[in-house]
Amino acid sequence: MKHAPLQLRPYQRKNADEILACLERGVRGVLYVLPTAGGKTVVVVGGVIRTVVDHGWPTVFLVHRRELLQQSLRQLAAVGIDAAIVDPDHDPDPTALVHVCSIDTLKARKGRLAAWLRTIRLVVVDEAHHTVAPGWQALLEAMPNAQRLGVTATPFRGDGKPLGDLFETVVRGPSVAELTAAGFLCPAEVWAPYSPDLSGVKISRGDFVAADLDRAMNNDKVTRLAMNAYAARMPTEPAIIFCTSVAHAQRVAEMFTAGQWKARSVDGNMDVAERDRAIADLAAGEIQVLTSCMIISEGTDIPVVAGAIFLRPTKSAQLYMQQAGRVLRINPSKKRACIIDLADNVKLHGMPEADRTWSLKSGLIQSSASTVRCPKCHRRVFPTQRCPTPRCGYVFVDRQPVVVRRIELLSDRDMHSFSVPELEAMAETDKDLQRIGRVKGCQPAWFFHARKRVAARQAKQYGLRRYA
Ligand SMILES: [Zn+2]
Repeated sequence: MKHAPLQLRPYQRKNADEILACLERGVRGVLYVLPTAGGKTVVVVGGVIRTVVDHGWPTVFLVHRRELLQQSLRQLAAVGIDAAIVDPDHDPDPTALVHVCSIDTLKARKGRLAAWLRTIRLVVVDEAHHTVAPGWQALLEAMPNAQRLGVTATPFRGDGKPLGDLFETVVRGPSVAELTAAGFLCPAEVWAPYSPDLSGVKISRGDFVAADLDRAMNNDKVTRLAMNAYAARMPTEPAIIFCTSVAHAQRVAEMFTAGQWKARSVDGNMDVAERDRAIADLAAGEIQVLTSCMIISEGTDIPVVAGAIFLRPTKSAQLYMQQAGRVLRINPSKKRACIIDLADNVKLHGMPEADRTWSLKSGLIQSSASTVRCPKCHRRVFPTQRCPTPRCGYVFVDRQPVVVRRIELLSDRDMHSFSVPELEAMAETDKDLQRIGRVKGCQPAWFFHARKRVAARQAKQYGLRRYA
């Protein structure tokens, strides 16, 4: 089969060459970081795999969901690569050079397939932020002759901690802000008509407890606010709504349907064909709104989607970036991506295009999360003097951008690159101060005074004493 060469954008070509140069140097693990909708598959399939296959490298392309197997196969076929599938029904085809593999199958059969796994030269791990899950280390170690290429938009764990030791070098693609400025992503417009009360919501393993969230968010009053905001900001444009539970997703779809729209909910228990049909109907304009709990956060590609409605608060920067990323993809039918945030996710994590600093060793170090919300039209924007909404133009009182850094996310080594006053300015708790004192070798008297200064700062910042 003859194939047309895939057109790589200039940054995609550059990134593919950087990755290939790392592999050529013998780097064991390369992590490629590119925002959602930046076209990582084009880089990996058209830029990297196409080239290593020409050099005869047996390659494994790992995907973590069943529906991604066929999708990856099609993408490889588009660049003329005849790949084989390894899944519960298929063992490796010895005549193929590239194998698209279900991770679970390989984990389960790595003993039996040991000899074959040893022949692999390159293993590509899609959505590489999952590699912190159990079983990964052992699976990658079962391929001792393979160099690793991990690909992710969020190179840290859900709780912001580092990814681990599977990768040693990073190739950074352009940021969300850079891709937006170059016209490869849609600019995001954020509306925040509601702030949820999360005081009764417990936190476990770095995120809100789902059952508690459901009590706070699965509520017809909040859904009606979402419907009003949708009607006001993007009345008939295709949108996806992120909910706290399957029942919540169903209830929201029901209410939108009882309104003036066609809506459907999808969930993981559904037949795959039925789910695909709902997604295709959204893409075709048959329905306007698709609601879901977790299922469309990752890997689902619907470029026409112009809006996202957040009804699921999350503390995970990763989940937030994935959900926001769903609507940033460019499409001729849309000028901007509209985010209606009733979960305060943008308030917590910052605008999608905010700068985020991270490293392989420390994870997410800081994000310029600062935003302001217009009290008149409820638009949320980067700190500014005047609301950018046409015909609103609300003038904010003087606001200084605040950079949010979290002590708990800094390693001891990172802490040495900051001065004591800089660290004190990030401290929120006694534990933070104790750690600064220990790492920087401060005198006990410093702790006493620092505690007072932090309490005073917090009183000014939050208007109350949060410091305990
Ligand atoms: Zn405004």
